[in-house]
Amino acid sequence: MASFPERLATVLDRRREDGLYRQRITLESAQGPLVRVAGRQYLNFCSNDYLGLAAHPRVVAAFRQAAASYGVGSGASHLVCGHSAPHRELEEALAAFTGRPRALLFSSGYAANTGVLASLLRAGDHVFEDRLNHASLLDGGLHSGARFQRFPHGDVAALRGRLAAVDGPKLVVVDGVFSMDGDTAPLAGLAAACADHDAWLMVDDAHGFGVMGERGGGSTEAAGLAMAEVPVLMATLGKALGTAGAFIAGSEALIEALIQQCRTYVYTTALPPAVAAASLASLQLLQEEGWRREHLAGLVGRFREGAEQLGLPLMDSASAIQPLQLGDAARAVSFSERLRRRGLLIGAIRPPTVPAGTSRLRITLSAAHTQEQVDQLLEQLAACFAGS
Ligand SMILES: *Cc1c(COP(=O)(O)O)cnc(C)c1O
Repeated sequence: MASFPERLATVLDRRREDGLYRQRITLESAQGPLVRVAGRQYLNFCSNDYLGLAAHPRVVAAFRQAAASYGVGSGASHLVCGHSAPHRELEEALAAFTGRPRALLFSSGYAANTGVLASLLRAGDHVFEDRLNHASLLDGGLHSGARFQRFPHGDVAALRGRLAAVDGPKLVVVDGVFSMDGDTAPLAGLAAACADHDAWLMVDDAHGFGVMGERGGGSTEAAGLAMAEVPVLMATLGKALGTAGAFIAGSEALIEALIQQCRTYVYTTALPPAVAAASLASLQLLQEEGWRREHLAGLVGRFREGAEQLGLPLMDSASAIQPLQLGDAARAVSFSERLRRRGLLIGAIRPPTVPAGTSRLRITLSAAHTQEQVDQLLEQLAACFAGS
């Protein structure tokens, strides 16, 4: 048996040997298209601030104003005395916006996903997850006690076969937009399969909410699905809304049951009220300023057209996530480093976040980017790929 120090040393050595060692960069500026790291300015193509709201003056002002009234810490969990007026107001606004009776705030998307799966599922139930689902959904499903199956990515026919083969309560869980690939789940097909086999559908719309759909309602709005088809809707506030936290939206019974027994809701300190107030300002902005979605869609089109002309290894994505698949982890890291020297911040995504052999540069676009910045990105990518 290895001692703890030996074990830690082995883990670190192995990560280095495999070219999978991870290091953080430290930002010295607000999130935005231009960020400062170690005194140098970079063009940022790796944040999830898809609508450019993380440092928006109205969002910052709402945060500041609420901090002045409510202080910083929420002081307790929601069930003790940490639930305040901004939380309540945001929950009501999210419920109205998503067309659900209720919404419930969580401190993070990770907590929302693991918590709702643990609350909903029991031993003997069946949970079916797309194999490329976010780690929080896979962890939640695996630890739920239910029988857990992964189905091939986006494969409705395979899912139908598996649903038909089992009895009892069944839950199907997918990302609306897949976080590392940028493609969209076939939600209409999945919903039909669920209806035919008496299963519930849960959608994690971390990357679709605020971005997809005519009104920014997300990938379920884009697919024309409401609560009848998607009884469990989850989205995060830390991506397109530019703040932090997450929510689950659904029926009165779902939300009340979560308040009663969801461990990641009950046993944790409520989000700071000012974060809720800032999120409410973001939600208003995303409703008022449809141009952010239109501009972002324009940038995505411009990037894909340019990348196609250059013969870059684009993936099948219509979202703000535009990965370039490179395969080998060392190759992805080397490209990311070369781009860094050229003043671009783009993350190399490697196993275990993505399957072995599918390492990639994960480029993300934001409504805060200009067309010129996307052209600069294409120019630098062309130079890097030409020299490889
Ligand atoms: C980011 C993300 C989460 C986790 O949300 P946090 O608020 O960052 O914990 C969950 N699901 C998906 C698909 C995500 O991209």
